[in-house]
Amino acid sequence: MVKKQFAVIGLGRFGSSVCRELYKLGHQVLAIDSKEEKVNEMTRHSTHSAIANGTDEKALLSLGIRNFDYVVVAIGDDIQSSILCTLLLKEFGVENVWVKAQNYYHQRVLEKIGADRIVHPEQDMGIRIAQHLTSEKIVDY
Ligand code: ATP
Repeated sequence: MVKKQFAVIGLGRFGSSVCRELYKLGHQVLAIDSKEEKVNEMTRHSTHSAIANGTDEKALLSLGIRNFDYVVVAIGDDIQSSILCTLLLKEFGVENVWVKAQNYYHQRVLEKIGADRIVHPEQDMGIRIAQHLTSEKIVDY
């Protein structure tokens, strides 16, 4: 079986958690953040790591990002950077670009520029928890 290559750009709570889990599952993961301390925290939980700006076309190309099967864009508050990074990845021809959206307007732009999957971690988790709560057998004494 050919191993899939993953990269995660933005190592906040969401991105770092995705990165750690992929690594724990035995996958190749490249962890990228513009902040050195974030990258340092993730060196033990990724196969490769790099300090780079996700909007820097040359930096992304030199990291060989176009060869990755999946790239997760987990840049949070800086919506402009998230959009530009996603646009670059799709222009490079990355097949699967999964992006964390901050709000509905961010989501709409991401859809237009070709993000393959858009996630809203807090909302998605809320839905899962509610489904979990209602599917468990609750015994009332
Ligand atoms: P979370 O909820 O996942 O903790 P957040 O929504 O609070 O994240 P931020 O903390 O703003 O989002 O960003 C997540 C990470 O993305 C941070 O570690 C930040 O350094 C990194 N980041 C922000 N902009 C860029 C960029 N242009 N290139 C690379 N990394 C970036």
